[in-house]
Amino acid sequence: MQPLPQSDQDDLDERMMRSAMVEARAAEAADEVPVGAVVIAPDGKTILGRGQNRVLRDSDPTAHAEIIAMREAGRALSNYRLLTPEGGCSLYVTLEPCAMCASAILHARISRLVYAADDPKAGACGSVLEVLNHPQLNHRAAVRTGLLAEECSRMLSNFFLSRRGKKRIDPHPMDVEEALLGGSDGDEEEVVRKG
Ligand code: ZN
Repeated sequence: MQPLPQSDQDDLDERMMRSAMVEARAAEAADEVPVGAVVIAPDGKTILGRGQNRVLRDSDPTAHAEIIAMREAGRALSNYRLLTPEGGCSLYVTLEPCAMCASAILHARISRLVYAADDPKAGACGSVLEVLNHPQLNHRAAVRTGLLAEECSRMLSNFFLSRRGKKRIDPHPMDVEEALLGGSDGDEEEVVRKG
């Protein structure tokens, strides 16, 4: 694929990230931590898979938005590598992928990752770990970060704020410590500081 002029690429990126945000809001409406993702074909505009965080609904620790979206795209392409004759796919996600998702992105041979907010607690694209584009791993993905980051992190912080004071029965899907403690009454930051 010929690279698009930068302004066209920016428009496309924003449109796709907004599609991921629609998924995140749907997760929130179902009382799940609002994270959403979409997988886009190499043409840059066809959505092959959509995913929203659904760990609670599915009782599935692997049901992160990226995994759900990549599963759907794999079925659409009948290929566990999300590759087509035109090239690799792009993944848009509202939050920096965790180690599990970053690893799945490598297995899927995603060629471009665009994520909004950094995840200082569990991000595996540079914040905590560097799973993607690790020097000793051979798959390389182009990465764009920070697109609509403020909106996406506000969605997450509002979600946690609205739950402050309530007994939390659903731990942050990426927070092992809180899961082990069986939920916490505090907000996210307090959980972080316990370490
Ligand atoms: Zn993940």
